[in-house]
Amino acid sequence: MSRWLLVTITIIGYINIFYANKAFVEVKSLYPNAYNWYCDMIQKYPSAKLENVSFCISNNFLASTNTIFWPEEILKTIEALYPINEKTQDMLIFFLKQEYILLHEAGHIINNDIPKRRIAALLTLTTVCGSILYCEAIMLKGNMFLSLKEKKSLIIALTTAIASYPLLFIYIRSQESRADNFANQTATKECLEAGIKWHNEIECYFNNEISSYYLLPKSIQFFINDPEHPTANDRKEAAKKALRDRFQYSEIPITDPFAL
Ligand SMILES: [Zn+2]
Repeated sequence: MSRWLLVTITIIGYINIFYANKAFVEVKSLYPNAYNWYCDMIQKYPSAKLENVSFCISNNFLASTNTIFWPEEILKTIEALYPINEKTQDMLIFFLKQEYILLHEAGHIINNDIPKRRIAALLTLTTVCGSILYCEAIMLKGNMFLSLKEKKSLIIALTTAIASYPLLFIYIRSQESRADNFANQTATKECLEAGIKWHNEIECYFNNEISSYYLLPKSIQFFINDPEHPTANDRKEAAKKALRDRFQYSEIPITDPFAL
């Protein structure tokens, strides 16, 4: 690979890491009811410290350094339904799920995950780019045969380049587990039950999605589909454990509307 192409890709990567999510619109300006829901969440969960966080429109659930982004499609639904007048079971579950996701995103901000993640991504990009350039430099020295020392350095540099990305994703996954843990420890019982339901839906969705790559073990398939998060089953089990631990459940009763 041309070194300049590699350096260019790396620089584009740097720009992407620092300038993603810089342009955004606050929910308050377009969806006042949805913003009222958010204000009610500030009151309901003081430990989430949402009053210091901007609530903005995006196309996905995301947290940035000091901003939480919500998908516009969902905001439109919240806008139409909030405040809830006629409480149907579906509607309540819908809002409880939003609550759980909000606590997960608040967990990222409380743990300062996004700046740490940016630094980790920056280090990874630099390591990969540096290792490949180093390998190229050894190979281009013009000698037909590499010395033992050169071979060793080549192997170390290649291993570093290959291992960098999995290491980054292991780190990101640990952040995701911590954000889930914050939600699991903060949510009310009903909200936690809705969170379990949400994890279960993600699991069903992935199970349908991945049925086509039957050659690979399931854990690898999950990793390919979503390298940033622990498997949906692990996330669901962690939430179930929190439900049992915090609300003294010996087992989730079968008659429970959220039972799985
Ligand atoms: Zn997350």
